[in-house]
Amino acid sequence: MTQIPSPETLQRMASVVGPQGMLSAEADKAPYLKEWRGLWTGETPIVLRPQSTDEVSRLLTIAHDTETVIVPQSGNTGLVGGQIPNNGEVLLSLDRMTRIINVDATDFTLTTEAGATLKSIQDAAESVDRLFPLSLASEGTCRIGGNLSTNAGGLNVLAYGNTRDLCLGLEVVLADGRVLNMLKTLRKDNTGYDLKNMFIGAEGTLGIITAASLKLVPRPRRYDTILVAVPNPAAALDLLSAARDASGNRVLAFELIPEIGVQFTVKHMHTRRAVETLAPWYVLFEMADVAEGVADTVLEAALESGSVLDGVTAQSETQRRELWALRENMSESQKFEGGSIKHDVSVPVSKLPQFIAEATTAVETFMPGVRVCCFGHMGDGNMHFNVSQPIGMDKQAYLAKWHAMNRVVHDIVMKLDGSFSAEHGIGILKREDMQRYKSAIELDVMRSLKHVLDPKNILSPGRVLP
Ligand SMILES: Cc1cc2nc3c(=O)[nH]c(=O)nc-3n(C[C@H](O)[C@H](O)[C@H](O)COP(=O)(O)OP(=O)(O)OC[C@H]3O[C@@H](n4cnc5c(N)ncnc54)[C@H](O)[C@@H]3O)c2cc1C
Repeated sequence: MTQIPSPETLQRMASVVGPQGMLSAEADKAPYLKEWRGLWTGETPIVLRPQSTDEVSRLLTIAHDTETVIVPQSGNTGLVGGQIPNNGEVLLSLDRMTRIINVDATDFTLTTEAGATLKSIQDAAESVDRLFPLSLASEGTCRIGGNLSTNAGGLNVLAYGNTRDLCLGLEVVLADGRVLNMLKTLRKDNTGYDLKNMFIGAEGTLGIITAASLKLVPRPRRYDTILVAVPNPAAALDLLSAARDASGNRVLAFELIPEIGVQFTVKHMHTRRAVETLAPWYVLFEMADVAEGVADTVLEAALESGSVLDGVTAQSETQRRELWALRENMSESQKFEGGSIKHDVSVPVSKLPQFIAEATTAVETFMPGVRVCCFGHMGDGNMHFNVSQPIGMDKQAYLAKWHAMNRVVHDIVMKLDGSFSAEHGIGILKREDMQRYKSAIELDVMRSLKHVLDPKNILSPGRVLP
C-alpha cells in the first residue's frame, strides 16, 4: 500500500517545479488520470510537470528521501494502465520537456527530450529530408519517452524494427535522483553491458527516461500502397513472402484486416470501403522505393494463384491516406460496438493462420455470440485479437469476463510459442499473465534488477512485476 505523501513533501516537490509546473485542482488533473479506453481512472495528490532533467533529478531525490511513489507519464496513450496513478502516487508528466535538441542529417540521428510527441519527431526528421520510421495511430499524442518505455511497435516494424531498434542512446534519471547519461549517437559501442536496453520497455519501473538519441533512415521517394481481398490468412502469408522476395525486403507494412473490421470502420468512422469484392479478409501492405512495375507483378501473380481475390493500388497521396484510414480507424471504430476484450499477441508468422482459427473457435465456444475482430501487424506475427461483445449484452457484464477470456486466448498463444503482450507492455493489466507464463527464473532476474535500481520501490510499484 502506497504511503500518501505528506504536505511538506508535496511542498518541497512543488518548489522544484514552481507554480507553472504543478497541477493540484481536480479539473486540471483530470486529463492525466483517464486513459484512452476508459478502463482506468486514477487519482493523485499532484501532477508534477518538470521542465528539465535537473528538475526531474531533484524531484526524484526528494521522492527517494521521503519514499514517495512516482508514476511517470508521457502522452497517456498507453493501453495497459501503467501510466495511471492511484493510492496517493504522484504523477510526473514529461509533457513540458518537448525540446528537440539536435537533428543531424549526416549522422542520420536525432536527439530529443523525452516529452516530444512522436509526430513532432517525425516532422523534425522530415525537415532535413530524413525519416524517423516509428509510426503508430496514436502518433500525434504519444511521446517518445512513452514509446521507449513501452518499446512500441506499430506499422513499420517489419522493415525498421521496434522502438528499441531505433534508439542509440538514452538519458535516464535513476530512482535516487542520479542522472545516467548514455546519450551517445554511436552505432557501434561494445563497452560492457548495454544498460540503455534495460530501461527500454521497462514501463517506468527502473528509471525515468528524460532524453534519447534516435536513428533516422533515408526518406522513401515512392510508395506502393495496396489493399487486397484475400480468401484466408494462409493466402495472406503467401502474399507476404512473395512481396518480400520481389521487393528485396522493402515491405514496410503488412496489415491483416477482417471483413467485420471494415464494416465497423465504414459504419462508425465513415471510411470508404475501397475494394469492391466482399471477402473474409483483406491485407493493406506498403512497399517503398521498389522499381516501378514490381508491385503489379506481385499482384498479378497473386491473382493468378488465387491468394488474392481483388486489389486496389493507391494512385495518389490522397488515395494512399484513404487506404490507411481504413486500418488506422479500426481501433476507434470498435468503441461503438459495446465492450471489446483485447489481446495484443504475437506468434511466429507461420503459425498465425493456426492461431486465428483456434482462438476464434475457443472464444466463440467460451461465449457464443461474440464477434472476433482480429487485425494488425501480420508481417510481425502480431495480431490485435479483439473480441466485441454479443449484441444486446450488458457491457459491464461482458467486460467482467476480460481476464477469463484472456486466459482462453493466451493459453493458445503460449502453446504456439508466442507472446501474451507483443507491443503494448504489461502495466497493471497483464501482471497475472506474467505470473502464469514467465518462468520463475525470468521473474527472479527481473525482481533482482528492480531491487538494484529501485531499492525503495518508489517507481511505479505494482506495474510489470506480479
Ligand atoms: C489509437 C491508438 C493506437 C495505438 N497503436 C499502437 C501501435 O500500433 N503499436 C504500439 O506499440 N502501441 C500502440 N498504442 C499504444 C501506445 O500509443 C503506446 O504504448 C505508446 O508507446 C505509449 O506512449 P505514451 O507517450 O502515450 O506513454 P504513456 O501512456 O504516457 O506511458 C506508457 C508507459 O510508459 C511509462 N512512461 C511514460 N513516459 C516515461 C518516461 N519518460 N520514463 C519512464 N517511463 C515512462 C508510463 O509510466 C507507462 O507505464 C496505441 C494507442 C492508441 C490509443
